[in-house]
Amino acid sequence: MVSKFAALRPAVAPELRDWVDNRLISAHIRMVKPLVLGTLLNAAMIVIGLWSQVPPSYLALFGSYVVGASVHRLWLAQGIARGRRQKRTEKMLDAFQLNSWWLGLTFGVSFAWWFPHLGPIGQVLVAVCAMTQIAAAAYMVRTLPRSAAIYIGTQALGVTLGLAQIGSLQALATMAVLLAASGLLIRMAYTACDLFVTRILSDRELGAAVRTVKLLLNEYEESGSDWLFELDRDGCLHGVSTRFASALGEPVTRLEGRRFETLFVPNPSRDALVSAIGERRPLRAETLALTAPPEGEATRWWSVSGRPCYFSAEDRVAFRGVISDVTSQRLAESRVHHMAHFDSLTGLPNRALFNQTLAELLDEREDSAQLALLLVDADHFKTVNDMFGHPAGDAFLRAMAERMTAALRDSGLGGDQPLIARLGGDEFGIVIAGEDTCDKAVRFAAVLVEAMSEAYSIDGHEINGGVSIGIALAPYHAALKQQLLSNADIALYAAKNGGRGNWEMFEPGMDAALHERHTLSRDLRHAVGNGELRLFLQPLVDVETEAMTGYEALLRWEHPERGLIAPDNFIPLAEETGLIVPIGEWVIRTAFAEAASWDSDQTIAINLSPVQLGSPNLLPVIVNALAASGLDPARIEFEITEGVLLHNSDANIEILNRLHELGLKVALDDFGTGYASLNYLLTFPFDKIKIDRRFVSEMGTREESDAIVGAVIELANKLGMCTLAEGVEEPEQLARLKAQGCQMVQGWLFGKALPSAEYHPNVLRAIEVVAPPTASLGRPQKSAKSQSYSRRKAG
Ligand code: C2E
Ligand code: CA
Ligand code: CA
Repeated sequence: MVSKFAALRPAVAPELRDWVDNRLISAHIRMVKPLVLGTLLNAAMIVIGLWSQVPPSYLALFGSYVVGASVHRLWLAQGIARGRRQKRTEKMLDAFQLNSWWLGLTFGVSFAWWFPHLGPIGQVLVAVCAMTQIAAAAYMVRTLPRSAAIYIGTQALGVTLGLAQIGSLQALATMAVLLAASGLLIRMAYTACDLFVTRILSDRELGAAVRTVKLLLNEYEESGSDWLFELDRDGCLHGVSTRFASALGEPVTRLEGRRFETLFVPNPSRDALVSAIGERRPLRAETLALTAPPEGEATRWWSVSGRPCYFSAEDRVAFRGVISDVTSQRLAESRVHHMAHFDSLTGLPNRALFNQTLAELLDEREDSAQLALLLVDADHFKTVNDMFGHPAGDAFLRAMAERMTAALRDSGLGGDQPLIARLGGDEFGIVIAGEDTCDKAVRFAAVLVEAMSEAYSIDGHEINGGVSIGIALAPYHAALKQQLLSNADIALYAAKNGGRGNWEMFEPGMDAALHERHTLSRDLRHAVGNGELRLFLQPLVDVETEAMTGYEALLRWEHPERGLIAPDNFIPLAEETGLIVPIGEWVIRTAFAEAASWDSDQTIAINLSPVQLGSPNLLPVIVNALAASGLDPARIEFEITEGVLLHNSDANIEILNRLHELGLKVALDDFGTGYASLNYLLTFPFDKIKIDRRFVSEMGTREESDAIVGAVIELANKLGMCTLAEGVEEPEQLARLKAQGCQMVQGWLFGKALPSAEYHPNVLRAIEVVAPPTASLGRPQKSAKSQSYSRRKAG
């Protein structure tokens, strides 16, 4: 189909030509009524004006043609506007052109015919009416330029022909002006039409783009996981979609017009959102928590991005953006964060978070403010793990953490920001900040030691608690984190050394003490291998006969630089480091060999540490030493303390039974110092009870001690156990003990702990002292193979 406008300058795609023509016709239809009205008015003026100069029959014919053409044009326009005329566009254009011919010719022919016969006023009237009609057509019929050209052309030609018949110079000049003006107006009509077509085409393209975008956006809205939002100039929601509303669990009507930021919890991110919208700046992925998450959900996190939009004044939208739900990412992130900062067993902050928080607290600390660091260490955790297994150990740590947290909460001493963390293993850290920190820390440490000492019931076992605590103060002891931690650690060591179950505040001297411990423990590793250990003997005396019936083997360390070191100064260290096992083995072999070398059948008493009882090597070592020495088991006595019965009792009692089976004796040492319970006498058939030196020294000065010693002796005798009193220095003490029925004594009254040669001068000693397996000593010693010392009888 070829359009009437194929020649138009704007390139119109063939499939658009009909559409363009339609738009042109519609545009013209809007102008038809004023056009027709103007035409009728003009015609009326002409009829009235020329009434006396033109025969009425001609005027009547002219009037009826004009009215007919006007009605026809109106009828055409109305029909198209009301959709009655469904004809093809081409036909419609033809109809309008036909009507233009009709009207144009009616006027043109009339003008040409009448003009020469009119008077001057009549000619002016005709000329003015013709020019008015030509100008009006150039404007009102411009969207149908051919119709305009016909309409203008026929009338211009009519007047021109009229003028030509007059033939004067003025008439010719008027003719020229009229033709030029008409040509110009026709040209204008064509240009105006071109512009109109260009505009409607570009509008059409824009409209299509807008529709496409809307379509895409709708699809995005419906199917995507994200939502779009639009805000008006006041930052209120506009054009809320149903998906957006359902994500919030609220009806669209409640959201429309609501201030956007009220959807989110106030925080710095929300402030950033408010200022970006207010200042019309782009917003990039700001993560915000919803104030009212949908029902059944704890939190919802949205990531909001958007940018201001610069639209027309009527457009209400001032800001547009996208929202994505990032709740699952946030939760995953926070889980990872939690795992990185919290201990999974106890739920307390871990070492990393503790260190970080401590550093921050120290940084933020004002000059006058103090901060206390408490390091808390469980006293018997290893035993719990060994005895009851790791699940029980875990339960024990959890119970500890709970008790500690409760104690901190209940004490109200935690200060403004109490921090409690598990630093690893059985070590916990507490930070107390605020006022009177030192006082609070000390009071809380005392409360904690007390609270933690109560027994725990884990998996049906009664497990003894107890913690040691080291305290360091900032800035008094250290202002920097690392130094503060290390000082608290030193104080903790001091607390442990001080017998556990207590607390210590850091003191500058402790540092040196710790250093001393370190060197001592290093030297102790080599003590056995280097042959620095000595066994001294102290006589055990029968009260009745005052005969030395046996000896207790007491250990000494002959340190190459420090000289002779007493066991109290290195046995706890050896127990802590595990070195007591190889050392104890050395003691057993040496003591057996020593006793075997005597020419009497005196007994030998050997001290066993609780740690040694936990060693699977103990019984094999004893059996081997028995075989190697050939010593009569009946001459051997092992001394254990109440502590052995306290922890891991069943397993330990089993070992004691095995010792009995081997024919060895077992004595309960230091009776009365530990838990001072007579019940312990019933837990195992001890061969001997050794009453601690403290009771003996207090006898005569404290009535209570006399009573206790009396009760112990009585009960032990009833149970068929021998009683031995330690630390007898005075004859009066001996007399009292004798009166109470005590069978044996030991003490300086009869002899101090001395090298064995002092008590057995006649013995030729060539005792092979076999060093224990080097593996447990850390590294092999050259001199570890064998050490022997011999001493001839002096004098
Ligand atoms: P203990 O078993 O109670 O040993 C008795 C301690 O009392 C010895 O101290 C001894 O010298 C001291 N003593 C004896 N009579 C008197 C007295 O009349 N007055 C005074 N003031 N003290 C007296 P020592 O030798 O310093 O031993 C201390 C502790 O070291 C021992 O206490 C024992 O528990 C431990 N020990 C010693 N040798 C060994 C050993 O080979 N293995 C283990 N595991 N522990 C040992
Ligand atoms: Ca002893
Ligand atoms: Ca003792």
